[in-house]
Amino acid sequence: MRFDIFTLFPEMFEGPLTESIIRRAREAGLVEIRLHNVRHYATDKHRVTDDTPYGGGGGMVMKAEPLFRAVEAVLGLPPRGAGEAVPPPPCPVILLTPQGRPFTQQVAEELSRQTRVALLCGRYEGVDERVREHLATDELSIGPYVLSGGELPAMVIVDAVTRLLPGALGDPEGARRDSFAMGLLEHPHYTRPADFRGWRVPDVLLSGHHGRVAEWRRHEALIRTLVRRPELIAAHTLTQADRAFLRRLVHHVDALLKEADP
Ligand code: SAM
Repeated sequence: MRFDIFTLFPEMFEGPLTESIIRRAREAGLVEIRLHNVRHYATDKHRVTDDTPYGGGGGMVMKAEPLFRAVEAVLGLPPRGAGEAVPPPPCPVILLTPQGRPFTQQVAEELSRQTRVALLCGRYEGVDERVREHLATDELSIGPYVLSGGELPAMVIVDAVTRLLPGALGDPEGARRDSFAMGLLEHPHYTRPADFRGWRVPDVLLSGHHGRVAEWRRHEALIRTLVRRPELIAAHTLTQADRAFLRRLVHHVDALLKEADP
């Protein structure tokens, strides 16, 4: 899979995209990440990429022309203007914006099935609206807050998508068990020592009984999701065993409440 990232600050990607899982995925040829400096596509002497907003007000706006030129050159698209038909781009062209559709695990899975994705990083007050209207094919937000630029969102997306690529994780089952992948939050994890300052690992995890461990993990995932993100339970297809467990849980809670407050 290939990511083409369009940014004014390519140096920001050093580090996050050159370590750990992403580094290994790149070395193994599972993912290719190409950074394109939008400034190089500005045609004037000073390579200006931003300008003041029409209508006044503070801040600067990223100009449409350098972004259009960069994306067209890299994706091999003919330049076009109003009313001119051109072939669709060879891959999704995603504008990063707090106003976009929410980036979720499902969207990460959707993107992991693409062979190529282009990510456009905004800066300042954002990008000229014509980029959204006539260049981007999708818009994604990584959360309901405003960051200074699209670079961190691009890194978040590259990370979340890369770990889903077959072969990217040492444990191929890992991504399937992760929170959200199965529609529930994941069960808790423990590692050695079994007793740390008197805090013990649950006995069942030391039992060596795979069936009981799997059942405990499922129950913990259900409880955790019920307490922290109940809306996920409502949206999830529960098994008969899940339903029976949740009914038993409600029954116990009811009994306890009656005892405490008859
Ligand atoms: N004025 C814009 C608004 O209110 O929608 C915010 C601009 S923000 C300061 C600059 C750039 O950061 C945006 O163009 C976008 O590329 C990126 N950005 C900021 N927050 C983001 C988020 N939550 N998700 C995705 N991109 C974001």
